[in-house]
Amino acid sequence: MKNIFPIKIILLLLVLLISSAYSKDKGIVVIYPKPDQVIGAVDSTFILGHLPKLEKDELYDFRINGVKVDVHPDGGFLAFLPIDPGPFTFYLEAVNVYKKDFKKKIDGFSGLVNINTDNTIKDSLTVQVPEPLIQSKIDSLYIDPHFHNQFRFKALKAGDRLRLMIKGTPLCQAWFSIGSIADSIPMAETDPRTQAYWGESVFGNGAVPDSLLIKGIYSGYLDVTDEMRGDSLKVTFFLKPPSVESIIKRFLLPPLEMSELNLIPFLKYSDTDIVSIESYFKVNFNDPAYPMTVRFIDSVQTIRYGPRKGYFSIFQPEGVEAEVIGCEDDWYIAQLSETQKAWIFKNSVEILPHGILPPQSFLRVVRYYSGDSKIRFEFPLNGKHPYRITEVDRRHLRVQLFGVTSDTDWIRYTFGEELIDLVTWEQVEPGLYQLDIRMTRDIWGYDAFYEGNTFYLEIKKPPENLNSLKGKRIVIDPGHSSDPGSIGPTGLTEKVANLNIALKLAERLRDKGATVIMTRSDSSHVDLYDRPAITKANQADLFVSIHNNALPDGVNPFVNNGASCYYYHPHSINLARAIQKEMLKETKQKDYGLYHGNLAVNRPTQYPAVLVECAFMIIPEQEAMLKTEDFQKKCAKAITKGIEKFLKEFKDD
Ligand SMILES: [Zn+2]
Repeated sequence: MKNIFPIKIILLLLVLLISSAYSKDKGIVVIYPKPDQVIGAVDSTFILGHLPKLEKDELYDFRINGVKVDVHPDGGFLAFLPIDPGPFTFYLEAVNVYKKDFKKKIDGFSGLVNINTDNTIKDSLTVQVPEPLIQSKIDSLYIDPHFHNQFRFKALKAGDRLRLMIKGTPLCQAWFSIGSIADSIPMAETDPRTQAYWGESVFGNGAVPDSLLIKGIYSGYLDVTDEMRGDSLKVTFFLKPPSVESIIKRFLLPPLEMSELNLIPFLKYSDTDIVSIESYFKVNFNDPAYPMTVRFIDSVQTIRYGPRKGYFSIFQPEGVEAEVIGCEDDWYIAQLSETQKAWIFKNSVEILPHGILPPQSFLRVVRYYSGDSKIRFEFPLNGKHPYRITEVDRRHLRVQLFGVTSDTDWIRYTFGEELIDLVTWEQVEPGLYQLDIRMTRDIWGYDAFYEGNTFYLEIKKPPENLNSLKGKRIVIDPGHSSDPGSIGPTGLTEKVANLNIALKLAERLRDKGATVIMTRSDSSHVDLYDRPAITKANQADLFVSIHNNALPDGVNPFVNNGASCYYYHPHSINLARAIQKEMLKETKQKDYGLYHGNLAVNRPTQYPAVLVECAFMIIPEQEAMLKTEDFQKKCAKAITKGIEKFLKEFKDD
């Protein structure tokens, strides 16, 4: 008995589970957004999902927040709707309208249709929409404690500039002080600011609603001098109303602008009405810990133009050393040469004991060796210096070595190597050595690395026989795996859609004699950063990543959609362009554009690398299209043709 009873309960639970899953299937399924999700949008966003499939002669009257929304025959829907700040609820209501009832309407019956509550399914979903920045009101003197400078801590030294901002009541007088170090430094009100929304500016039309123009932002700065010294200092900001005399003066000076009537409420304040606020962030001036030397402990590290900002240089190997002169939050600033500075993530380096300086090298001889598939430039140095490789143009590579001084009397050419046209060097400034390599053909790919203290640049020669795919080593990367990527209205995941296209592409390329390597050929997990590693390990000639698109919150999917292609390094743009062209031709989709995009799989330099966004997962018609073999084959055909064209045009160049 004891044993049977729990089994009964388990059975009952099973029945309940199955029935609840079943009833769920009969309702409205919202794929995106999720309940309580924070929407990064400003005034509108999209919502997608599906309704239970209907019989052939049925259709839905489907509304979200009262707005009629189309339902695709397979049940999928997508809407782009206005939202308001705060908790915001979508009310969804679908009425199953029988076709015969429609006929009645056409025959002259009044009213829409017979709305039987049994035919109605309802649901609601609440999301969180962040409050936009709100302009402070004039009838209260106020500094906004939530308006942030974009840092928590900064170490500055003589010659650095501390830039500060506050938001408060518009039209006032503002200033700041820092303990005994700086007193009453004036701040000025800036022009009204727009709150830019990155998603809209890159993937949409760049529209900024008027409601997002903010007045009352004040800025000021302090140039740090040698005498300023202190630890963990806070900044105090002050705000006081415009003086009565200045208001009266403005009124007496014609022409009087309407906006100046806004000054009237300030007349109620006196000169002693001052508000102040202490900064949550802290600053150090002339901290004796700096400068210090750091060494990279990550195998692949990027250095940047600012904390969390664009890349100054990618792929600095483990062991590279640099001098750091200050910090902001989790970032050090490195002085790479006399004028060149770059930011390094604190967790990716170790601090060397005080007294150790970064390496110094004098470069006397540069030479190169020509192999079958690559040309190897050799730079013997005394240590591992930070470096930067730039594609100046299609046939011009620039190597910059920081902390290196030229003593170059000799550059040895390999006679008979026709790919290298001219090699020149320049000491751009103290601590910055530059070598320019001009080539007779376009750049295919290159690699830079250290072996011991010798720095190498390897230039890859273009593969032989560019008339054919035969023997070309091509890596196909079906995007995502354990993360599903974007999800379509009826639940098709991007990882599945990507794989379907990739498998057809692989088959096609193999038929044409290419050696195809897939980063995954089933649903198994592959880490994003393993994909370039797989490609490099396989000595690939080129790389194509297959994806399908979604949009950031707030961008209108009905306006912004189509096929698109992404590259990172200039030497990959022609491959991206060729594939994009064939995609548009084969699939007859809208042109969503060619992009330079900072995507991990496109950052390697060794080969041309592109990422294709074939269609849009989130649009019901396109999701349905992605399920068809016909569309998958068209994409495979287009990408194959694109690669062939790229090879052919490279040869004819
Ligand atoms: Zn993707």
